[in-house]
Amino acid sequence: MINRLFLILFISMAVMSCEVKQKNAKSSANDGSDFIDSLMNEMTLEEKLGQLNLPSSGDITTGLANSSDIASKIKEGKVGGLFNIKTAEKIKEVQRIAVEESRLKIPLIFGMDVIHGYKTLFPIPLGLSCSWDMDLIKESAHVAAIEASADGICWTFSPMVDVARDPRWGRVSEGNGEDPYLGAQIAKAMVQGYQGEDLTDPKTIMACVKHFALYGAIEAGRDYNTVDMSRIRMFNEYFEPYKAAVEAGVGSVMTSFNEVEGVPASANKWLMNDLLREQWGFDGFVVTDYTAINEMIDHGFGDLKHVSAKSLEAGVDMDMVGEGFLTTLKASLEEDKITQAMIDEACRRILEAKYKLGLFDDPYKYCNEERAKTEIFTADHRKKARELAAETFVLLKNEGDILPLKKNAKIALVGPMADNRENMAGTWSVAGDFEKSVSLRDGLEAAVGKQNVVYARGANITADSLLESRVSVFGKPTYRDNRSADVMIREAVNAAKNADVIVAAMGESAEMSGESASRSNIEIPQSQRDLMKALLKTGKPVVMVLFTGRPLAMKWEQENVPSILNVWFAGTEAGNAIADVLFGDVNPSGKLTATFPQNVGQVPLYYNHKNTGRPLAEGAWFQKFRSNYLDVSNDPLYPFGYGLSYTTFEYGDIQLSSETIGMDDELTVSVKITNTGKYKGAEVAQLYIRDMVGSITRPVKELKGFKKISLEPGKSETVTFTINEQDLAFYNQDLKFAAEPGAFKVFVGTSSREVKEAEFTLQ
Ligand code: BGC
Repeated sequence: MINRLFLILFISMAVMSCEVKQKNAKSSANDGSDFIDSLMNEMTLEEKLGQLNLPSSGDITTGLANSSDIASKIKEGKVGGLFNIKTAEKIKEVQRIAVEESRLKIPLIFGMDVIHGYKTLFPIPLGLSCSWDMDLIKESAHVAAIEASADGICWTFSPMVDVARDPRWGRVSEGNGEDPYLGAQIAKAMVQGYQGEDLTDPKTIMACVKHFALYGAIEAGRDYNTVDMSRIRMFNEYFEPYKAAVEAGVGSVMTSFNEVEGVPASANKWLMNDLLREQWGFDGFVVTDYTAINEMIDHGFGDLKHVSAKSLEAGVDMDMVGEGFLTTLKASLEEDKITQAMIDEACRRILEAKYKLGLFDDPYKYCNEERAKTEIFTADHRKKARELAAETFVLLKNEGDILPLKKNAKIALVGPMADNRENMAGTWSVAGDFEKSVSLRDGLEAAVGKQNVVYARGANITADSLLESRVSVFGKPTYRDNRSADVMIREAVNAAKNADVIVAAMGESAEMSGESASRSNIEIPQSQRDLMKALLKTGKPVVMVLFTGRPLAMKWEQENVPSILNVWFAGTEAGNAIADVLFGDVNPSGKLTATFPQNVGQVPLYYNHKNTGRPLAEGAWFQKFRSNYLDVSNDPLYPFGYGLSYTTFEYGDIQLSSETIGMDDELTVSVKITNTGKYKGAEVAQLYIRDMVGSITRPVKELKGFKKISLEPGKSETVTFTINEQDLAFYNQDLKFAAEPGAFKVFVGTSSREVKEAEFTLQ
């Protein structure tokens, strides 16, 4: 008893001194190491292992936290953090158990998948990336941090930065598309948005970049599948966004489910120790993905004791859900399979994270119920979500300038996504109140009045009820209609009779992408295509509002539907934002960040590919003994960087500051862009390079810069980019990052395909 009292006194003194230290943290760069040293001196082995344990909360009901299963573990010091629990009230209750009823009173860290907003939902990440607007993306993360931190959460499992080139994989929706350079800019913006300038600020949260590493390269697009690639490819094509997040100071890193070079990522020492920590200088903590340690048993990597030891040894600090660390590391230590230093190191990193967040200073600092009442789902946040959503839409086709619509037009609104609030959230939106989202129907009716909108469903998402039941989950029903397809189509065609224009909300439902939502057929389901055929037959102008979480193979739609606006899943304000764009209050400016293939057989299809020794001649389709297909051209349906506007932009020729530059010089690349259309609009000018000859082969194009400008009709602006040695460098065969002298091409244009080009030499 005396001992314990002493300990409490000791720790509270330490906490008090920590408070003082924290106040000076910025000036003295104090990392709390003295405080953590003292604390760790008091910790038993079991308590240290407890810090490495991250259970999911289960469903803790307000007022009943103390009787939950998790509570007894917390009291015993066997829990380091919790996730999947929300509200300031509940988290406060659970935190109280940790800081009042556990021996050492160490606060818990509370995590959550705050992926594209908290209650105010922004577009899915793939959509966000199509805005190419780093300020807006950062702002979305900042708003998410304000809302989550007001509700008790101090740590998010975001950003997801896995470069992905396979649209069959459902998780392309969670990332930033296929380009490592753009992915890196977004990774940085997201980390800055969540973490702000100072993590002790109660309105910021710690970010967790994921999934380390290469999860986006799983074979066949089948979730959790194998990854295998050369290190040259990893470094040149996949690692840049993770590295950018580390450079931006991300507090934590999550491992991935896949293997890398035959070793599951969660036990891959090269990845976590050599690369992440030693080479990139990461000083935060590493958490596994959900039960990723246990899954190594099925990978064929050993039993739980073995894989847990391997994981710790490789550099993992926190075990999500599986409790392999909690239940086996003690035995492994006794058998000398791991060392005390490894456990200490991991425990220290978790405590450091809590220290950085200021939890030792005030364990309840994120549980301010007043903030929860006033800072979540505010009018201001919703306004931002609406503005940002409109920036993410990509106009894929607009034949005959059907768009923008006139506000006095009579609209027939049809399609399975037209009147579905819950699905607007898109995948990975765990904290949202889905029914509070604005559906397309809500948005159109608000914009032009109910009397101008006639609604008919027209079709189910798919005729396949089994498939539909698999995606009608997580509070996002698809509202299957049991009437026959013919009856529904007839009703839609009737609705169109008195309309001036048909708006058809089609594509995927929210949970047709996301985790464990891979598709082998990435077309729009036949039920919807049948509806579209009937609508086209009416002879009325048709606008397809495309909902999707992935690039789709929609050659038929491109060939037959006059106007297509891709709106992804735009979040809380989806319907309003879509109305803003349909009626021309906002001119669309989004550009694709992932290639749309013509058919699934072309996958993986990406703009920054290699030339091969037998490239197809430009503009050709089939040439015998060239790299191509018999039955489809090599062209994408819509290339990377593509997106139309209600106006048109003309690019002048490229002006270079010089045709030759030295290693220390900077090349200036300028292009005059003119708005040649009728509307004010924004354009994302993209800069690509090609290294013509390398010690290893180089891609045909690589994005190295972009600028989004806004122009009034008839006005011009000269956009200027600079290129330096860093931009021209790549990882060579020795994995050294260096530029090589020689000839380069530089391209500037409106997409990866439509560009102006010039040449220069690096000396
Ligand atoms: C996902 C992660 C996510 C984690 C926690 C896993 O299944 O792969 O991205 O952060 O669950 O919810």
